[in-house]
Amino acid sequence: MQALTRPTTDTPYAPPIDWKVLSPSYDPWDPIRSLQRFGRHELTSVELTVTHLCNMRCEHCAVGDSLTTSEAPHLPLDLLFRRLDEVEHLETISMTGGEPTFRMETVRDIMLPVLKYARARGIRTQLNSNVTLDFERYELIAPYLDVMHISFNYTQAEDFHQVGFARTGRNVRPETTSKLYERMIDNSQRLAKGGLFVSAESMINYRTHDKIADIHRLIIEMGCRRHEVHPMYPSSFASGLPAISREQMFQAVTTLLDIRDPEVWMLFGTLPFFACSENEEERSLVRRLKEETNVTVRNDPDGRNRVNVNLFSGDVYVTDFASVPSFGNIRSEKLDDIFAKWRVHPMQQAVNCHCPSAGCCGPNLLVSDMYYRDVDFTQRRAFP
Ligand code: SF4
Repeated sequence: MQALTRPTTDTPYAPPIDWKVLSPSYDPWDPIRSLQRFGRHELTSVELTVTHLCNMRCEHCAVGDSLTTSEAPHLPLDLLFRRLDEVEHLETISMTGGEPTFRMETVRDIMLPVLKYARARGIRTQLNSNVTLDFERYELIAPYLDVMHISFNYTQAEDFHQVGFARTGRNVRPETTSKLYERMIDNSQRLAKGGLFVSAESMINYRTHDKIADIHRLIIEMGCRRHEVHPMYPSSFASGLPAISREQMFQAVTTLLDIRDPEVWMLFGTLPFFACSENEEERSLVRRLKEETNVTVRNDPDGRNRVNVNLFSGDVYVTDFASVPSFGNIRSEKLDDIFAKWRVHPMQQAVNCHCPSAGCCGPNLLVSDMYYRDVDFTQRRAFP
């Protein structure tokens, strides 16, 4: 059991003061940590899908196809807690949707108990939210949460309208979405001011790659402690969107490194650039990313140290890669056992490389599928 010493100051959402601070040198979501510790991938991270409802329909949404307008009852929480108790090396829990806070019942009856459970066990938590709803629901959970993770891909309300509501299937007026945009910024600022670690994620895609510097500046103004950046891979719901070239991606990452606020943690993920690349320019970018202060490249947790549990069906997924079906169900199996099945799966084995000198444990399935179909990563090594 961890101490639950709470800060009593004007930062009511700060984590207990005796907890290790999340930082570039302590990122419990990165699967490289458990790989280094145990010598193989272990399950340390569980993601819960707590809703399929959402007030937005972002064009790039990874789960856009599964969003609904009504939903079934959740599985009993005691079943979930029993399954979480059994995970031997559990370090983090994330909650995602849809918009997890869409219904107040989900906030009160599911998320709050899960967050309190995690706090009592010393487990770090993250909520993926668009923070566009009333502050009251975020205020309720913020004292128990470690990371509020938001998506931010905009330079103005008009971008937000185009990205977030183009696929709602109904006519949403710009005046309405502009209010949501303002509220999202206001909520983020209030949460950050209250001591919560707010992390904003941007995608590098056809809309953002040449505006990424302005997006970064806005994120800093919102008080975010971290800017997380991933390339967008057009798959599933987003498969109709234009892809950008690797050169454009390379340029956007370089621009960010050039203009970033050096005080703010920049976390890159799912980049298609590796220390084993034949291309010297890409290798020098990888080197630069490694050397810069407050910059990290997180190995992708999906299929490495994390599974996703659907809290309605109990189905467990090891990756959001579309062609990998559910690997088991928490109604009948332990999470560590389900994960063990995935560890030996040929799809996982195909990208199961590890170069300790580069702090890298291989590409995720989407990256390898998109750019490296003929490459056997298990035969590659990081250049010295
Ligand atoms: S771990 Fe894999 S992807 Fe990373 S540098 Fe080594 S061979 Fe390349």
